[in-house]
Amino acid sequence: MSTVKTAKKVSNFINGEWVDPISGNYTEIFNPATGEEIGKVPISSFEEIESAVKSAEDAFKDWKKVAVPKRARTLFKYQQLLMENREELAEIITLENGKTIDDAAGEVQRGIECVEFAAGAPSLMMGEQLPDIATGIESGMYRYPIGVVGGIAPFNFPMMVPCWMFPLAIACGNTFILKPSEKTPLLANRLAELFKEAGLPDGVLNIVHGSNDVVNGILEHEKIKAVSFVGSQPVAKYIYQTAAANGKRVQALAGAKNHSIVLEDADLDNAVSNITAAAFGSAGQRCMAASVVVAVGDVADELTERLKQAADNVVIGDGADKASFLGPVIRKEQKERTLDYIETGLEEGATLLRDGREDKKDSDGYFVGATIFDHVRTDMKIWEDEMFAPVLSVVRVNTIEEAIEVANESEFANGACLYTDSAKAVRTFREEIDSGMLGINLGVPAPMAFFPFSGYKNSFYGDLHANGKDGVNFYTRKKMVTARY
Ligand code: NAD
Repeated sequence: MSTVKTAKKVSNFINGEWVDPISGNYTEIFNPATGEEIGKVPISSFEEIESAVKSAEDAFKDWKKVAVPKRARTLFKYQQLLMENREELAEIITLENGKTIDDAAGEVQRGIECVEFAAGAPSLMMGEQLPDIATGIESGMYRYPIGVVGGIAPFNFPMMVPCWMFPLAIACGNTFILKPSEKTPLLANRLAELFKEAGLPDGVLNIVHGSNDVVNGILEHEKIKAVSFVGSQPVAKYIYQTAAANGKRVQALAGAKNHSIVLEDADLDNAVSNITAAAFGSAGQRCMAASVVVAVGDVADELTERLKQAADNVVIGDGADKASFLGPVIRKEQKERTLDYIETGLEEGATLLRDGREDKKDSDGYFVGATIFDHVRTDMKIWEDEMFAPVLSVVRVNTIEEAIEVANESEFANGACLYTDSAKAVRTFREEIDSGMLGINLGVPAPMAFFPFSGYKNSFYGDLHANGKDGVNFYTRKKMVTARY
């Protein structure tokens, strides 16, 4: 039985026990759809990191020696429990994050797929051999876990992002310390509860809640060998630099400004519905959200008119209400930041095609309606910055080459989409666009768990991406044995 939804105070999870923070410090958790406080989350200190590291280090001694198929069986059991509890998991996500229940269910599914991928550990952990590197001499590569790994997660995917990290790391034989977002801490505890129920030994997964102090504790602790981070760009850069300076492996996935290019030959019904879902779904708070449309040539007038109509039809409301399509942004400050950006867009001379500021204006929830700016240029802040909000910018150009140039000018390079019927245009786009995850005639080209999740430029700091074989390489180290018998 879940203890998560009824807990007034969230606990840390260390060595298989639910423990209160030593400091006694907490901060509030809010339901973004109502503005109500739904609980308190610990703001832990370095002492908790110390105790989580000790627990993870002790657990590592045994866990790394558990036969890989046996570790995989724990993952299979975990997958089963996650499937059985997926409705409850989605409800927790909607409660603490605000996204709609359908979006949350989709996220739960993506998280479960990560566990399914990790359950393939026996194949993923295999090494390689060459029997004859010279006469009578052979060489083999063996793969081992690296030790205690730290993970730091953002608010926008309370399930999927932690599931990019700890299931694979643990399947590979590591032990893990997770620092969830202090804005969405509930789901992480339920994930830990279910993993324990699946038979995960104490200390293999630990959760330390908090903010900057916990993060710095992870970055500085000499026993933590690797750090996986997902969050905003400035923090990702800081994490990368600090973790690397402290001798750790690091993968830091950062912010985004994803461009959707629409050509004249595109199926506009498809383009409009996909762009609308990608721009306003999850209140624009996805790292793969469509935040800029680049309309090429004569398509612009009809496209913008239809995008406006679609935005007018978006149903805004509490994500727990099945009818809602657009939920709240995460916090009051994020709502105010978004309203400031809308002002900035007007001051910069963009045309406010649809103004979402009036939608659910009197609610205590943090709502901003679907907003569209037309005639946006690349010298505007609303084009340059990641707003992370339901605000879509439209840039107008004449050719696909110009459209690609606009997208490539961004400091971010997470995702990009192209809407067209032309194979030649698809090839031009694929070859010339400087972005890690591409979509053709669809809105959110997020790769599944068995592929790497890969951005470039200021969207990613590190070398090996999350998920897929990159994830396995990140969470393992190799031993080479060269032998003459
Ligand atoms: P955030 O950077 O504010 O927080 C992420 C984590 O870092 C949290 O756990 C937080 O406690 C911690 N943190 C925040 N400020 C810190 C500081 N100064 N020092 C140390 N730790 C700090 O990000 P967020 O607002 O929770 O998440 C949204 C961001 O995440 C967006 O920029 C989005 O694009 C990005 N994101 C990227 C991907 C990707 O795959 N590239 C996926 C999801 C989210």
